[in-house]
Order: sequence, then structure tokens, then C-alpha cells
Amino acid sequence: MSIPNDATPCDNETTLADVKRWVKEFSVAREWERFHFPKELAVALAIEAAEVMELGRFKSHADVADALRHPEHRRAWAHELADCLWALVRLADVCGIDLASALDEKLKLADRKYPVDQSKGRHDKYTAYQEEEKLDLVPGGISSRDPN
Ligand SMILES: [Mg+2]
Repeated sequence: MSIPNDATPCDNETTLADVKRWVKEFSVAREWERFHFPKELAVALAIEAAEVMELGRFKSHADVADALRHPEHRRAWAHELADCLWALVRLADVCGIDLASALDEKLKLADRKYPVDQSKGRHDKYTAYQEEEKLDLVPGGISSRDPN
């Protein structure tokens, strides 16, 4: 295991490559590579994401915020998020996908889909902006951005 026993890693000092290596070494030591097919890891990621959702099930935003102030609940959230990260980095590694590069590409694509001037403070899908632009192009069209 390449995680030093006497040190607690932190986000500011850990790279995605480090995380990928830790998870791979953990898996190899247990001969789990034979189970780590992309589909199985994708299923594991979905299950772990559901476990995160379960922590907030039937709770208001305020209830979740309050729970996160308590160490035992915060630890439960941290563990489920770590499970998600585990599955995500293992899946990316098995697929030969560089996550930083993939995220960079997706952020650039999202920047085009969600221009700041149109999306700031809004939560609707980018297609809503396209619909508004179509309405703006129609003579006499009414845009939801129109104040009148
Ligand atoms: Mg879990």
C-alpha cells in the first residue's frame, strides 16, 4: 500500500494519479482485477451514488446541513463519497480514461452549452436558452427573459 501509515492524505496534496494507484494496489493485492469489468464498476458507482442519496432521503436541505455538522454523520457522508471516488477512479483506470483530461473537455463543452450570461443563477437545462433564442428570433416572439 502506498499510503503512508503515519500520514493522512488530503486533497491539496494528493493527485488523481495517486488515488488511482492506491485503489489499483488495493485491488491487485486482493486479486479483484478479475471482477473489475467496466460494466460492473459502473454498477458499483451507481450503487455508491445511491448510498449517498440515501443519507439525505426524506431530509430537508436544512436537515442535511445540520447532519453534516455532526462528526458521525459527516463521516458517513465522507465514507460514501469515498466509495464513489473509489468506484469512479477504478472505472476510469480500467477504461484507460484520464479523468482530468475528460473533466477539462466536459467543462469546455459545458461552458459552450451554459454561457455565463444566459445561465447565471438559473438551473434549467441548456435547451431552455435555445428555446428562448428561437422565440427571440421570431418577430413578436416572447422570451421568458423579457421583463414585460
Ligand atoms: Mg458505500
